Amino acid sequence: MKGVLATEKRGIRELGAEEMVGWDEVTQGVVLHSFDTEVENVAHIRPEERPYSDFNSYTATVASWRVIKPVYNRDVCIDCQNCWVWCPDTSIISRDKQMLGIDYDHCKGCGVCVEVCPTNPKSLLMFAEAEDNEEALAKWPEKKKKEK
Ligand code: SF4
Ligand code: SF4
Repeated sequence: MKGVLATEKRGIRELGAEEMVGWDEVTQGVVLHSFDTEVENVAHIRPEERPYSDFNSYTATVASWRVIKPVYNRDVCIDCQNCWVWCPDTSIISRDKQMLGIDYDHCKGCGVCVEVCPTNPKSLLMFAEAEDNEEALAKWPEKKKKEK
């Protein structure tokens, strides 16, 4: 799991406001290549194995934008992949239909993954960014009983 979460290219630089240019400041005709080399069938290559260039958003981290974060509880997860499908930032890491965790370099803390998680209790919950993940897991709620 560590090998998937921490990769050489992922989140190596902070994406700050000073790097952004307005729509009318972009030089016409400039091409920012997503990859350092020619890549074929990129959809069949795992993200951590793709030769992303420094211009690709994969190499920039936006972790400092977040004030709340999702914490993942493996013990409750049923690997339904709902969170993976719905995350607007492709920040859910899943391999062979097994949920592995959150890509905290790119997650913006929107909470969509928590909303769509169907388990009881949820397998993903939002916590303050500063909360330690182990401590968050220790506070996990119990299963809610159905009201009669
Ligand atoms: S909080 Fe939002 S960006 Fe982060 S993993 Fe969940 S759905 Fe994706
Ligand atoms: S939506 Fe919830 S149960 Fe489904 S894979 Fe994601 S964390 Fe697991």
